Amino acid sequence: MTGTVVESPEHTALRSAVSALGRRHGPGFDRAALWAEAGKLGYLGVNLPEEYGGGGGGMAELSIVLEEAGAAGAPLLMMVVSPAICGTVIARFGTDEQKAAWLPGLADGSRTMAFGITEPDAGSNSHRITTTATRTEAGWVLNGRKVFVSGVDIADATLIVGRASDARTGNLKPCLFVVPRDAPGFGRRHIEMELDAHEKQFELTLDDVHLPADALVGDEDAGLLQLFAGLNPERIMTAAFAIGMGRYALAKAVDYARERQVWKTPIGAHQAIAHPLAQAHIELELARLMMQKAAHLYDAGDDIGAGEAANMAKYAAAEACVKAVDQSVHTLGGNGLTREFGLARLVTASRVARIAPVSREMILNYVSHQSLGLPKSY
Ligand SMILES: Cc1cc2nc3c(=O)[nH]c(=O)nc-3n(C[C@H](O)[C@H](O)[C@H](O)COP(=O)(O)OP(=O)(O)OC[C@H]3O[C@@H](n4cnc5c(N)ncnc54)[C@H](O)[C@@H]3O)c2cc1C
Repeated sequence: MTGTVVESPEHTALRSAVSALGRRHGPGFDRAALWAEAGKLGYLGVNLPEEYGGGGGGMAELSIVLEEAGAAGAPLLMMVVSPAICGTVIARFGTDEQKAAWLPGLADGSRTMAFGITEPDAGSNSHRITTTATRTEAGWVLNGRKVFVSGVDIADATLIVGRASDARTGNLKPCLFVVPRDAPGFGRRHIEMELDAHEKQFELTLDDVHLPADALVGDEDAGLLQLFAGLNPERIMTAAFAIGMGRYALAKAVDYARERQVWKTPIGAHQAIAHPLAQAHIELELARLMMQKAAHLYDAGDDIGAGEAANMAKYAAAEACVKAVDQSVHTLGGNGLTREFGLARLVTASRVARIAPVSREMILNYVSHQSLGLPKSY
């Protein structure tokens, strides 16, 4: 599955190199080993600035890396947050010191940063988050709760979205803070998920977490803009994650359908089996095209245009992934549910992209309101 017309030779080369790495590790991979090797080879930091050890590319390149790792059965979920959100936000808005402190490590994979915005009482309504940041003489104090934050245990720090009060208006404005994993008052509880993944999700408590002044990333007064600079990459990368998973499942099903014979032809000759697989292939390809558009717009500096495309790409990729996994499991008959074939575990995993980081319904709300100009219901 290659897109020769829309892809440069460099991108195609990156795709096959990552694919080879992913296949070498394969399903049942050791996450830390793959992460370290991908980092050493420069794949985790392809989007980060060259002067800080990155590849000097953008989301176009980073999304290829995640998609191909996933298509090889070795997805690296933390790529969605560490280089894509945190790396982007620090590279675009961090101070020189913050860039020097974090970017080389995020680029070579020796350091990882998680990202926490979701709160138990806010959910999809991130305007309602209540984690507050109060100024002190030495810096900041954070108080609040987060939920479903991925990989906090394996990350050196978490980029926490809090709110600081505006001295002029008294309104709370979103601000981003780097909270080290072992900061006093920063607690985490593992949430048991029905997901067979290396990365765990956590509920976080921030109980008088004292941070130095330079824990704040970017301008206190431009938090929303900065946040969106990180959330578009997150959506593009979630699309890449979903497309990779969908391709992995589909490839397994196609192999099976070619071989498995219970009548006089392989089951793949029956259109009831072949057509849904062909549809899944088409839908994954279409989703990838929208992901490439979003990455292209983002990398060209068009944050607004990228916002719409990134939402659409995430939506399309999640739906295509859920459908591809469902049809793949079905294609294998009873084997679709065996541990040996490893597809049933993707049934829950494929749902992640439909709900996170922004749900299907919130994207439909966005498109009805922003793209179509229909009235808002909420
Ligand atoms: C595996 C996994 C990993 C995650 N990792 C992270 C992470 O690293 N960092 C982080 O910050 N968060 C993370 N999340 C959280 C994720 O972003 C949220 O689950 C998501 O934003 C939805 O929020 P919620 O779960 O509170 O659902 P809710 O907001 O409670 O929504 C529940 C349902 O109601 C629907 N709904 C809500 N409002 C509307 C509306 N106005 N119109 C129509 N329908 C609506 C939703 O679409 C959804 O179907 C992760 C979640 C999962 C499952």
